[in-house]
Amino acid sequence: ADAFGGMAEKLDKAFALLDGAKSLNAENVKAPLKDVRRALLEADVSLPVVRRFIARCEAKAVGMKVTKGVEPGQMLVKAVADELCELMGGVGAEGIKFRDDGEPTVILMAGLQGVGKTTACGKLSLAMRKQGKTVLLVATDVYRPAAIDQLKTLGTQIGVPVFDMGVDASPPEVAARGVRKAKEEDIDVVIVDTAGRLNIDEKLMSELKDTKLATKADETLLVVDAMTGQEAANLTASFNEAVEITGAILTKMDGDTRGGAALSVREVSGKPIKFTGVGEKMDALEPFYPERMTSRILG
Ligand code: GDP
Repeated sequence: ADAFGGMAEKLDKAFALLDGAKSLNAENVKAPLKDVRRALLEADVSLPVVRRFIARCEAKAVGMKVTKGVEPGQMLVKAVADELCELMGGVGAEGIKFRDDGEPTVILMAGLQGVGKTTACGKLSLAMRKQGKTVLLVATDVYRPAAIDQLKTLGTQIGVPVFDMGVDASPPEVAARGVRKAKEEDIDVVIVDTAGRLNIDEKLMSELKDTKLATKADETLLVVDAMTGQEAANLTASFNEAVEITGAILTKMDGDTRGGAALSVREVSGKPIKFTGVGEKMDALEPFYPERMTSRILG
C-alpha cells in the first residue's frame, strides 16, 4: 500500500494523462512509464535493469481493459507497483535459514573492501545472539592484519568469539578450521568474514570459490554499499557468477541514497536482499522491507 500511495502521489501528473482512456495501450502508457523510468534512473538503478523493468511493466499494462469506476492511471500505477514489489521479493523480509540437523549454519560474507562487510559480520552476530544462537566469527582476511584485529575488536564488544590463524594460512584453510571448531564446540552459526579488495579480480573470486567449497557454506551473502549506484549490477553479476550468492545485505542505507542498488542486485541475481545496514553501530541492522524500499526508490 505504501508503494502504491507513494507512487500515485509523485507520479500523479504523468498518470493523469491517462484520464478518460478506455484501455491501456502501447501509446498511452508511454509518457507515464517514461516518468517511472526517470524516477528509477534518478535512484541510480542501472540502465539495463531499468530497461528490462519498464518493458515488463509495459507488457503487463498494455491490453488491460479499464474497469468501470477505476481510473486508468490507477491501473497502471498498480501494474508498476506490483511489478516492483515482485522484483523486490514480494511481501515480508527474508532472514537466514538455519540448519536443523545439528550442524552449524555457515554464512559466508563477500564483497568489496570498504562496503561494510566486517561491520555487517558483527551486526549479524549480535542479531543471532539475540535470537539465542551461539555464534563463531571467523577472520580470513590474511592480507590485512588490521582487518583481523577489527573483527576481534567487534567480537569483544558484542561478546562473540573470533577464530583466526593470523596471516600465515590461506583463507579457505582458516575458514574450514573455523567451521570444524564450531562443530566440535556445538556452535549454532559460523560467520566467515572474507578478504575484500578494492576491485573485482580473478584472485579474489577464485579464493572466494575455494572458501565456499571448503566451508560448504549454507548462505553466501553479498555485502553491497547502497551508494554503489549503477555499478551494483555489474558487481552483483560478477560475485554471483563466481560463488552463487544466496542473498545480499545492503549497507549504509542511513545515508541519503535512494537505494536503487537494491533493485539492481535483485534483478541481476534473482536473490533477495535479506538485511539493510542503517548505521555504524552494532545494532544498526534491519530486515529488508520490500515495500519501504519500493517507495524510497520511486522517491
Ligand atoms: P569492510 O572493508 O567491507 O569490512 O568495511 P567495514 O566494515 O570496515 O566498514 C567500512 C566503514 O563503513 C566503517 O567506517 C563502518 O563504520 C562504515 N559502515 C559500515 N556499515 C555502515 C552502515 O550501515 N551505515 C554507515 N553510515 N556506515 C557504515
